[in-house]
Amino acid sequence: RAKKRGKSCYQFFTTDINTAATEQLALENLLREALARKEFQLYYQPIIDLESGAIVSVEALIRWLDPQLGLISPDTFIPLAEETGLILPLGEWVLLTACTQASIWNQCNPYPIRIAINLSAHQLEQADFSERVSKILKKTALLPHHLELELTESMLINRMESSLKTLNTLKKMGCRLSLDDFGTGYSSLAYLKRFPIDTVKIDRSFVQDISIDPDDAAITTAVTTMAHSLKRKVIAEGVETREHVDFLNKINVDEAQGYFISHPLPASDLSQLLKERRYLYHDDSLRF
Ligand code: C2E
Ligand code: MG
Ligand code: MG
Ligand code: MG
Repeated sequence: RAKKRGKSCYQFFTTDINTAATEQLALENLLREALARKEFQLYYQPIIDLESGAIVSVEALIRWLDPQLGLISPDTFIPLAEETGLILPLGEWVLLTACTQASIWNQCNPYPIRIAINLSAHQLEQADFSERVSKILKKTALLPHHLELELTESMLINRMESSLKTLNTLKKMGCRLSLDDFGTGYSSLAYLKRFPIDTVKIDRSFVQDISIDPDDAAITTAVTTMAHSLKRKVIAEGVETREHVDFLNKINVDEAQGYFISHPLPASDLSQLLKERRYLYHDDSLRF
């Protein structure tokens, strides 16, 4: 590449770091253009009530469909979107799109579902964040208690005061709050005490081995018992086998999400699922 640019010799000394920086800049520009071109899509993953098997909630998961690169996972571009500030318009688009979709589902579905949306720290730090959410709820006619905002422990470490104020306002509005990836951060019980969290989502790294690793089984059981005594609900992430479902049911975990139940799906597939098949895991043949 340097050769084509002519005689400026120093370009031959392009280091890996330079290459990385160049690639980062290119990706950042791609991201900016993608936002303008509306190349993002939301996939929706069902969350079931473990007792009945009914879909009670759906998590919105963003995908970037680049014409050349194909489907790009959020783990690649969300960190970059956060660094560049693009997460604010992107996050706003996710909120509006997911709430609009959930409101449509709840209008045609006799059993209302919740929509779970992942937030970034930057969104929560916006002074007017709760007002933005309120406006979106009004615009989409989604009931506040059908919106579940997913936070992570790392979001709550800094700027405790302002975040707490925003979260309390959202809570007063009737929104639900959940703590995502529980167990991967500091897992400080103080978070549950200090923040108005309704639900703990046990990270899939614990769920993965619950049927074979006694430590993971013990941790999952202890977290569930602890959350229940604090009157919080528990969702297990990354449920991949029948054994997972059986164990989680035995220890009274409330809800489950994972490939055993369903992969994340485009909106139209989920509409079909909501229309036809509400009880996903009781019959293995109904799995997606
Ligand atoms: P997350 O919020 O913890 O979402 C769960 C992730 O686990 C999703 O990955 C989902 O596809 C995957 N997953 C679900 N079931 C299983 C399973 O049984 N096994 C395994 N191995 N994986 C499973 P995805 O969609 O790639 O998203 C990754 C992360 O990107 C999310 O983790 C979330 O932190 C972030 N993210 C996704 N969408 C958004 C968004 O709209 N805004 C923000 N700020 N972050 C988002
Ligand atoms: Mg999540
Ligand atoms: Mg998670
Ligand atoms: Mg995660």
